[in-house]
Amino acid sequence: MRVFIGGIRTETNTFATRLTGDEDFRKGDVTSASSPHVDPGLHPGYAGFLAAAEKAKWRVARGAVAYAVPGGPVEQAVYERLKNTLLEELRAAGPCDMALLDLHGAMVAERCDDCEGEILSAYRDILGDKAVIGALLDPHAVVTREMVQAADILHAYKEYPHTDVTERAEELFERCAMMAISGARPKPAIAECGLIGGFPTVEEPMKGFVRWMKDMERRPGVLSVSLIQSFPWCDVPAAGAKLLVYADDGKTAEMLAREGGERFRAIFEEAVMKPLDCEAAARIVSANPQKRYILADVSDNPGGGATGDATHLLRALISEGVSNIGVGLLYDPETLEAAWRAGVGGIEEFCLGGKQSRYSGASIVAPGVVKALADNDGEGGRGAVGGPSSGPLALISTKFGEIVVGRERRQALSPSLFTALGANPHDYRVLVLKSSAHFRAAYADFDHEILEAGSPTAMNTDLAALPFCKIRRPVWPLDPLPPLALWKE
Ligand SMILES: [Zn+2]
Repeated sequence: MRVFIGGIRTETNTFATRLTGDEDFRKGDVTSASSPHVDPGLHPGYAGFLAAAEKAKWRVARGAVAYAVPGGPVEQAVYERLKNTLLEELRAAGPCDMALLDLHGAMVAERCDDCEGEILSAYRDILGDKAVIGALLDPHAVVTREMVQAADILHAYKEYPHTDVTERAEELFERCAMMAISGARPKPAIAECGLIGGFPTVEEPMKGFVRWMKDMERRPGVLSVSLIQSFPWCDVPAAGAKLLVYADDGKTAEMLAREGGERFRAIFEEAVMKPLDCEAAARIVSANPQKRYILADVSDNPGGGATGDATHLLRALISEGVSNIGVGLLYDPETLEAAWRAGVGGIEEFCLGGKQSRYSGASIVAPGVVKALADNDGEGGRGAVGGPSSGPLALISTKFGEIVVGRERRQALSPSLFTALGANPHDYRVLVLKSSAHFRAAYADFDHEILEAGSPTAMNTDLAALPFCKIRRPVWPLDPLPPLALWKE
């Protein structure tokens, strides 16, 4: 038996002003089909497919795999080239019993709202009906009818932070292999939940919901149960949370999709992230000087397409007189260059952040000392979630705290951002992390209380304040919660 494996992953924030280009994929990672090694830290899904294929003794035809840190829509020419590479590789591979794709699911190009739908449909055209097509998705995917029609099965990670990618990839391989051998195909059912938002799975009630999905998958005849949370800042018609079920018979699939959709709708208001505004978060920190806090700067998370240089939260903390703050990681190539020029011990007036977009807020100008420099945050420094290296870093000490500055737009996934620079992140009273939820995996042992703070950026958590125009309405919280709707073919 023979499997073709390929992948393209990025998550598009349609409110972000900067397009995602060639350089973003090169800096993220493009591993060509001929490269002998695929980094499992960067491509855990693809690497999971490879490991499962080897275990099952399938022959593998490898295609390329590409990843870019989330950003604005992908430049059309860049998207077409990446897509065409995968299609040419699939054609060149010759007959395959199945094709597995490592996708995100919320990639939008300048002139295509549904990149994954196009890619999967093109795969179906090339492979015909006999071959099995399976796609691994991020739960922040935007699932469309085209995707469901073209693929035999779409299977998403269950955890947010995404700590279960490899496991889900291996499951997808096994389920698709069973289908390829038996010739049977499962029936999909999709329940539209009528809402958007962020739903981390580290605490109840979402922990329990993940358990429920896994329990349902152990039922005979049920192949896959995925909660597609959807990416709230991807304004395309099909956006919105969905319960996606594949089962041997359509009735079971439909029953479970409806049950899961209603179960999720019963807990979503408790489960949804409810960030404070920056001023309120700063007041809490200031009013409790004996306590230690991690402030998740959720609206400036490069992992959701934000610029990573917004100053709203830091400014609010400074205004409240808060000190001993550790910031990771401010994306500011100019300041990084200035720090490297000044060298360790160099004293300068630094102009921190506030440069990359109209959402970034004003720069914070402050005298500072360059405390340390590092080439990157080291191997394995990307936390349990994975991702590309941090690139060069500088630690700048100011009177309100210490700022890690970088040349690449990176989510604060791991404490190694600080430790690579000789700092102990446990020592800061307040940690400001440019991350929404993924940081929780690698910061789990910190005794700091976690607060989430939102601000008016391209990832504004006050969704109703954003200029949505394509998403199908009604959808909560832009409208009152509509009834659950099952997709009909
Ligand atoms: Zn995600």
